[in-house]
Amino acid sequence: MTKVIIKECADYEISNLKRKINEGMELLGGWDKFISPNMKVLLKVNLIGPKTSDSASITHSEFVRALTQILNEYKCTVWIGDSSGGAIGGIAPTKQAMVVSGYEKVAKEEKAEIKNFDKEGVVEVKPNSDIVEKMYIAKPMFEADFVINVPKLKTHSAAIYTGAVKNVFGCIPGLKKAEYHRLAPDPKNFGEMLVDIHENVKIGLNIMDGIVAMQGEGPTAGEPYNSCKILISTDPLALDTVASSMLKMEIEDVPILLTARSRDLGNSYIDKIEIEGDYNTLPTLNNFKYPKKFKSTKKSNYKALVKVIDLLKARPYINKKICKQCNMCVESCPVQAINKETKNINYDICIECMCCHELCLHQAVELKKDNKLAGVAAKLFGGNYRK
Ligand code: SF4
Ligand code: SF4
Repeated sequence: MTKVIIKECADYEISNLKRKINEGMELLGGWDKFISPNMKVLLKVNLIGPKTSDSASITHSEFVRALTQILNEYKCTVWIGDSSGGAIGGIAPTKQAMVVSGYEKVAKEEKAEIKNFDKEGVVEVKPNSDIVEKMYIAKPMFEADFVINVPKLKTHSAAIYTGAVKNVFGCIPGLKKAEYHRLAPDPKNFGEMLVDIHENVKIGLNIMDGIVAMQGEGPTAGEPYNSCKILISTDPLALDTVASSMLKMEIEDVPILLTARSRDLGNSYIDKIEIEGDYNTLPTLNNFKYPKKFKSTKKSNYKALVKVIDLLKARPYINKKICKQCNMCVESCPVQAINKETKNINYDICIECMCCHELCLHQAVELKKDNKLAGVAAKLFGGNYRK
C-alpha cells in the first residue's frame, strides 16, 4: 500500500521543521534508505516567480533551509533548482526570483548551490502523449543523483489545486513553458504534459510544504491559510490525493490529477493509501476558500446546466488602476491576446490558461464572471467556501 506521511508543524522554526521532517522520514524507512554521503541531491522547489516566502506562493525558504541542513548532515551536496513562470524583458525572472524568495541567501549560508534551470542546459526527451513530439527538460533533473520534489500546497485559479504532480512544470526552462501552455491550454491536456515530465525524470521523494498553504485565487493571488502540515511520500499522485482530500476536493475536481490517474502515475484512491505520522485517518482543513472556478463534483451533477456553467467561466481582466505596466502578462501570454498599450484582452483568441493572472506580481489581473449569471449559479451551486 502507498504511504503518505502527514506531520503537524505549526511554523517555520528551523529546529522544529527538521525534527518533523526527520520523524516523517523515519516512517518511510529513514533517510538512509534514499540517500548516501557524497550524493548530489536536487531540491526541486516551487519558485513560481519573484515572490517572498511569506506570500505563500512559493516553497518557504526556511523549509528549503531545513532540508538543506538535513542533507548536509548526511554529507550530501545540495542543489536548489527551478525555473520561474512568465517573462520580463524577454527572459524568465528566475534569477530575480532566487533572490526575492530568499533561496540565494539560504544557499550562501548553508553552502548549497543554486541551479537556475533557465541556464543549465536541457535534455531532449520523448513524451508518451502526443501533445508535443519532443520535450526539453532542465539538465540538473538528470545530473543529480537524487531528486526531491518540494512543492507548495496551493489552490490554482485554472487547475483548482497544485502540488506535487504540477510542480514538475518548472523543469521546463524559461519561455518554453508558455509554448507548452499554448499547446495544452485545457487543464486535462496540460495534465498529460505533466505526466510526460514525471515519466522522464526520476523523483525519489516528494516533501510538501503545507505549513502555510495558499487559498482562494492561487497560485499567486490567493491568501495564506495556516494548514500546519508537512506531507511526505514517494508517490506524487498519492501525496496530492491526500492533500486535495484534506481540502475536501475529489480527484474528479482536479483535472490534472484525473489525467494522472488515467496514466497510472501513482495511487489516487484515498482508501488505498496508508496515512501515517500524526494521523492515521484523513485530517480535513475547514473554512478553506476555493478558487472561483471550483465546482465540487458532488454539486455539479446538474447536467442540463453544464452550458450555463460554461458561460460562468471567470475570465481574466486587467484592472488598469492597479496595473504597473511591467508587461509581464503581455510577454507571458502564449497567444499574444493582451494589447501592450491598452492592456485590453482579446477574448476571441484568449485560451483562458490564466497565465496572466498567475504571473502578475501586482494582482492586477482579476477574474470576472457575468454578475447576473454568477448570482444564479451561487444559488444553485453554493459559494466557494466550505465549512
Ligand atoms: S497587469 Fe500585471 S503583469 Fe500585466 S502589465 Fe499590469 S502589472 Fe504587469
Ligand atoms: S490573456 Fe491571459 S488567460 Fe488569456 S491566453 Fe493570454 S495569458 Fe492566458
